[in-house]
Amino acid sequence: MVDKEILLEVKDLKVHFPIEKGLLIKKNIGSIRAVDGVSFSLRQGESLGLVGESGCGKSTTIMAISRLERITSGQVLFEGQDLSLMKEQELIRARQNFQIIFQDPYSSLDPRMRALDIVSEPLRIFAKKGIITLDDASIEKKALSLLDRCGLSSTFADRYPHEFSGGQRQRIGIARSLSLGPKLILADEPVSALDVSIQSQILNLLKDLQDEFNLTFLFIAHDLAVVEYFCSRVAVMYLGNIVETASSKTLYEHPLHPYTKALLSAVPIPDPIAGKNRKRTILKGDVPSPSQVRPGCPFADRCPQAMEICTKKRPPLVEISNQHEVACFLYHDQEVL
Ligand code: SF4
Repeated sequence: MVDKEILLEVKDLKVHFPIEKGLLIKKNIGSIRAVDGVSFSLRQGESLGLVGESGCGKSTTIMAISRLERITSGQVLFEGQDLSLMKEQELIRARQNFQIIFQDPYSSLDPRMRALDIVSEPLRIFAKKGIITLDDASIEKKALSLLDRCGLSSTFADRYPHEFSGGQRQRIGIARSLSLGPKLILADEPVSALDVSIQSQILNLLKDLQDEFNLTFLFIAHDLAVVEYFCSRVAVMYLGNIVETASSKTLYEHPLHPYTKALLSAVPIPDPIAGKNRKRTILKGDVPSPSQVRPGCPFADRCPQAMEICTKKRPPLVEISNQHEVACFLYHDQEVL
């Protein structure tokens, strides 16, 4: 039975990039497994945070969901429709319902366009293709009201991106992402490039917009405090795999996977006494290259609790308690082993 509340369902998503050698005759000598079997679902109105170190596959996951990156295998079901199978025209229509907010507000806006044109551009393109019916005056009115809703009054409409601060540029990017009335926002580190004082303003704006427009968020961040504040649920990624998912409260209070524990133990605590008493987990080495994926647990090389089985079998993601899933043999029943 299809759960009508589920907006997005990602099943065993893989994005592998071939490694080729040779000048004239290219020979495939391996692959980079940027995303290697990711599965999760998102309910209407929910905000799921994807966290993990740089290079763990978070951004590639978002790019693959929006079909801006080629999917090697797996399914991306949006309201039950598989985006991975859609032809170009069908996909353009579907994109009305999901939009991306990019990390870098400096490079994601066209420097030759005014703020008003940037926000109205998606509407103009869709009106030209006959997907929506809006005349020029209605498009301008809608774009102005979105700019205003995102904190930029009409006096800013004729300015160019270089005339805005970083936070203001991100507000333009947010207004643009809302122009087609999407249900899902794929936010790729939307506040990482901003000053800390501006970050909270943008996060509060996104929260208000979520309530107002009943938006669903897939939210990438490497700052765990940002994810804890914004997201109701968190998925931890390591080397192209999800290793733990839980509600934000459960994950931050009772992390299970050794990698999640290590990530959380590295978050600074403002209280010096609590910080002193905290047990820190220092991981050995760097994240291995996604082109050298070996059998077994992807975290085995760096895990302080690795066992013999960990280098032989890959631990599946198993539900340990209410919607708390972990891919680690430490928590699996003997029959799984
Ligand atoms: Fe560590 Fe083994 Fe758990 Fe992987 S499965 S996280 S190596 S204990």
